[in-house]
Amino acid sequence: MRRTAGEAVPGRVLLVGAGPGDPELLTLKALRALRRASVVLVDDLVSDAVLRLAPRRARVVHVGKRGGCAGTPQQFIERLMVAEARNGETVVRLKGGDPAIFGRSGEEAAALRAHGVPVEVVNGITAGLAAATAIGAPLTHRDHAHGVIIVTGHARSGSATLHWPTLASAAAQGLTLVVYMGVASAAELQHGLLQGLPAQTPVALVQNASLASQRDWRCTLADLAATIRREQVASPAVIVVGDVLHALHDLAARGEAQQRVA
Ligand code: SAH
Repeated sequence: MRRTAGEAVPGRVLLVGAGPGDPELLTLKALRALRRASVVLVDDLVSDAVLRLAPRRARVVHVGKRGGCAGTPQQFIERLMVAEARNGETVVRLKGGDPAIFGRSGEEAAALRAHGVPVEVVNGITAGLAAATAIGAPLTHRDHAHGVIIVTGHARSGSATLHWPTLASAAAQGLTLVVYMGVASAAELQHGLLQGLPAQTPVALVQNASLASQRDWRCTLADLAATIRREQVASPAVIVVGDVLHALHDLAARGEAQQRVA
C-alpha cells in the first residue's frame, strides 16, 4: 500500500548504541529499546553477547561486512529502515559504541526524517571511553590533561585529510588524543604526531575493549607503528596518546583498572 505525503508512518526507528561489547555497558534505555524491537539491523561491531538480548521474535538483519560482502551499502540500509517503519515495525538500528561517534547517526536520522519516519537516538558508551577505562587510564586526569580529542585515523575518501602535526601541537597543550580507526594508518599518524609531540609520549593500544578477547599494549609514540606491526594489532582498536597514561602505574597499583567480561 502506498502511503501519501502527510500520512503518519506507523512504525519508528531507534538508532541505538550497543556500547563496546560488554553487555553490562549497555544503557538501560538501549536495553529497553532492544527488548521492544521487532526488527534489528546490526552492525559488525555489535557483540554477540549484546545481540543475544534481542527478543526471539525479532527479525535480525546483519548489515555489516558479516552480513553482506563489503558492508551493506548505506542507501540500502536507509531504504530498509524506511520500508520497515512504514510497515509498522519498531526498528532498532544497533551500532557499536555510540551511534553519534563515527556511527553515521546524523545522516541516517536525516534520511529517515526526510521520509517522515519518527527517529530516536539512544546513546551508547563509545569505544574510546571504554578502552581507556578498561586499562585504567582516566582521559582527563587533571594532573596531565585539560581535555580529550576524539579523532578518526581514517578520513572519508574525498574529504580533507587531517593535518596530524597541527593536531599534535594542540595535544601538546595538554589534550589526550583518542584515535579510532587508526591501526591501518599508524605509520602516517606517528610521523605526523612526532612533529608536534615528544618521541617518548606514552601511547596505549586497546583492541576489543571490554570483551574477553581484549588485548592492550603500551609503547611510546616513536614505537607506535612498529608495535602494531610486531604485535599484529588488528581492528577494532583505539589508540590513546598522551601523558594521562603516566597515571596508569598509580591506578594499577591501587587495582582500579576495570574488570573485563568473562
Ligand atoms: N560508534 C563506534 C565507533 C565506530 S568506528 C563507537 O562509538 O565506539 C569503528 C572504530 O571504533 C574501530 O575501528 C575502533 O577504532 C573503534 N572500536 C569500536 N569498538 C571497539 C572495541 N570494542 N575496542 C576497541 N576499539 C573499538
